[in-house]
Amino acid sequence: MRGAAPRRGKALADLGIIRDGALLIRDGRIAAVDARGRIESLRETRNARKLDLGGRVVLPGFVDSHTHLVFPASRAAEYEQRIGGASYEEIARAGGGIHNSAHRLRGASSGDLKRRALAHLAQFATHGTTTLEAKSGYGLTWESERKILLVLRELEREQPLDIVRTFLGAHLVPREYCNRKGKTPDAYVELICREWLPQVAKENLAEFCDVFCDRGAFTVVQARTILTAARARGLGLRLHAEQLARTGAAQLAVEMHAASADHLEKISTRDIRALAQSNVTCTLLPGCCFHLGLAHYGPARKLIDAGAIVALATDFNPGTSPTLSVPMILSFACAQMRMTPAEAISAATINAAYSLKRHDRIGSLEVGKFADLAAFDVDDYREIPYYFGVNHCVLTMKRGQIVYAREGPGRT
Ligand SMILES: [Zn+2]
Repeated sequence: MRGAAPRRGKALADLGIIRDGALLIRDGRIAAVDARGRIESLRETRNARKLDLGGRVVLPGFVDSHTHLVFPASRAAEYEQRIGGASYEEIARAGGGIHNSAHRLRGASSGDLKRRALAHLAQFATHGTTTLEAKSGYGLTWESERKILLVLRELEREQPLDIVRTFLGAHLVPREYCNRKGKTPDAYVELICREWLPQVAKENLAEFCDVFCDRGAFTVVQARTILTAARARGLGLRLHAEQLARTGAAQLAVEMHAASADHLEKISTRDIRALAQSNVTCTLLPGCCFHLGLAHYGPARKLIDAGAIVALATDFNPGTSPTLSVPMILSFACAQMRMTPAEAISAATINAAYSLKRHDRIGSLEVGKFADLAAFDVDDYREIPYYFGVNHCVLTMKRGQIVYAREGPGRT
């Protein structure tokens, strides 16, 4: 994969496959990439350690640009309630959903949250992910939102995957601000803008600010207020948009020049046109639709054909998408949203990297970029989504270091 980023339209399907290829890695970066014979004839490769991947498929490491990595416990009980007929929104109104996670997170220690996240990060690596975005948003008090962001900062230092931190204090209006006297949702918005965002910036706790702008969460007006305050503090902008209802959040993302608008299941033709003419990455999260048992997925085909920047991510979270497998997301994208395997791979690598403003360093296998890659034990890249629910990743490398190997470090 090489060439300009982001990828729009037909370019999304251009993987630039090199058969019998090789990479030369120096100091954690790609020094050369070409046919194996050419790489082997370079003078610099004479003293290089050789890692033979034996005919496997090598991709850029996956970039998972939307996760809620730090949470206190699974919500398997709610999963069963939903199977029994309760909707996600009904469960949330009854104190379940995000309220449930927030209640438990407030009582959890940083150590417990970190141990759980570390186990998940190891799993991300076994599925070929080398960079992920991670949001706060299960705290909904300053103390606990900060706790999540600090855990993420510590995790970045203590394990090999790159983590991009996003502040999502506006995930949901906490129960204590639900229209009690003097404590309204608007008062919560003001608290975020006046007190929390300045502190996030001051302590450098996050690079992005996200808002869940949807029915039952924050309105477009509230989201604009928060994003405006975030931008003034130098944060990049992301939005959970148009998942449960069409609210105008996608148009807000365009208006605010957000880095990414995520979900987009309910967007209109007009929204698609506006997004296609913008530099907003449209991050589709089909794991959510699958887990919630919905028939309607995001309009990937229409977005791609209109020329929008399309990315894919897991939305790893305990309520609506408890998967950290990008290969599984590729399967959903292909079978349910009619993306081709090549389009899905570009969406989960270079375009996802673009949405995180890291496309100059990661997301493709090009000279000068970090040697972040994943090897799959398949004969053809299309088999990665084709064999759904099976993890064929056998080796994951982060900046030239092997961080996961199914069978040891390979045949030398
Ligand atoms: Zn999310």
